[in-house]
Amino acid sequence: MSEPKEPRKKRPLHTKILLGLAAGVLAGIAVNVLLGPGDHRLEWTVANITSPLGNIWLRLLLMVVMPLVFSALVTGVAGMGDVRKLGRVGVKTLAYTVCISAISVVIGLALVNLVKPGERISPETAQALEAEYGRSADERVGATTAALEQRKEKPVALITEVVSQLVPENPVSAMVGTPNLLHIMFFALVLGIAAAMVPAETAAPFLGFFTALYEISVRIIHWIMRLAPVAVALLVFSSIASFGMDLLTALLWYIAVVLGGLLIHGVLVYGASVKFLSGIPPLEFFSRVKTTAITAFSTSSSNATLPTALRESREKLGVPSEINSFVLTIGATANQNGTALYEGVTIIFLAQLAGVDLALATQLTVAYLAILGGIGTAGVPGGSIPYVIVVLASLGVDPALIAIILGVDRILDMCRTAVNVVGDITAATFVAKSEGYALLKTGIGTDETEG
Ligand code: ASP
Repeated sequence: MSEPKEPRKKRPLHTKILLGLAAGVLAGIAVNVLLGPGDHRLEWTVANITSPLGNIWLRLLLMVVMPLVFSALVTGVAGMGDVRKLGRVGVKTLAYTVCISAISVVIGLALVNLVKPGERISPETAQALEAEYGRSADERVGATTAALEQRKEKPVALITEVVSQLVPENPVSAMVGTPNLLHIMFFALVLGIAAAMVPAETAAPFLGFFTALYEISVRIIHWIMRLAPVAVALLVFSSIASFGMDLLTALLWYIAVVLGGLLIHGVLVYGASVKFLSGIPPLEFFSRVKTTAITAFSTSSSNATLPTALRESREKLGVPSEINSFVLTIGATANQNGTALYEGVTIIFLAQLAGVDLALATQLTVAYLAILGGIGTAGVPGGSIPYVIVVLASLGVDPALIAIILGVDRILDMCRTAVNVVGDITAATFVAKSEGYALLKTGIGTDETEG
């Protein structure tokens, strides 16, 4: 989410969150060393003061996440679903986005399963974390086991099972109680596609409502995020004080997995994409989009990088304006490969920490949700965080765990945003090439500005 505009001299929010993290870690380590884990006073303080206070913040975030994610997905898909009007270009963009996001998610999930950063903790810490953060997961697993038992008596075809997991009978009841994220997302997807298919005047009030809901939710999240530095300090203090420094090692492995995944996707997959789909030598491509990558890296926002991407894609790569203005604009919100990879890794990492069962079916669910996340995440700094929170809750992982990664999120955000935006340009070159345009044949360095 974009940070509130602050007068110049004030510290930016992400610095404050990092300071909050550092304060929480240091205080947690200090009491852990001084009093030792299991000390009664420490346990009392965590249970009655720091943890409940930190949780107020989380509840506030959870309160507004559902309208935010729902409206972002409806409007994101409706924008992308301009398929009918733009014909082939729309279909190609959509297909490319889904395929390349799926590849990024597979890379992320493969790495996180290989390295298992969330399991790089001692068995005692693992047990304690599971008891604290994975409780609701047990209930969920319990319910699944009961369902499986039932099914033994009355077998259900796999396809029927998959359909009932994804397609709601009643979208309103999917939102009641613990929200059923898969059902809600499916409903948002269908609404978005349909909204793009009806005449624009008919869809306008509907999309206007969801755009307003989206903007309002973003505003509320800005307010809540102002409390993040304190909340992160409290939540991280509670975790480290109770579970010790093991967690920090796990965190470093997690960072390595995210950055490694982004590097593989950004270099190898994009390299292969431009070479084989767009006919551009990869090194040439990367050297021509470096300003865009650097802008994305320093702003952590795909939206803010859009003007630079539009210009560089046309002037340096020769992608024509009519393709850029569709593919890059939609791509800024809807084609976020780095974000999809990051969301998949983060969800699995935190679920590993919470000791939640990660059977193949759960992993596939996470992969599907991460691909949708890449489409439904706002192209603003920290846009992923609300989505990760809501997916964690729906998987039965206590979203309080997010505090552990929040302090290091900015640097990961910078890297994933660079991957997101470069991915939009690979999409634009692919579409332009397939439409028969000659790429690279352009006056490099023209100073004309687009967009
Ligand atoms: N900051 C990212 C972007 O703008 C979104 C995210 O948080 O993953 O592309």
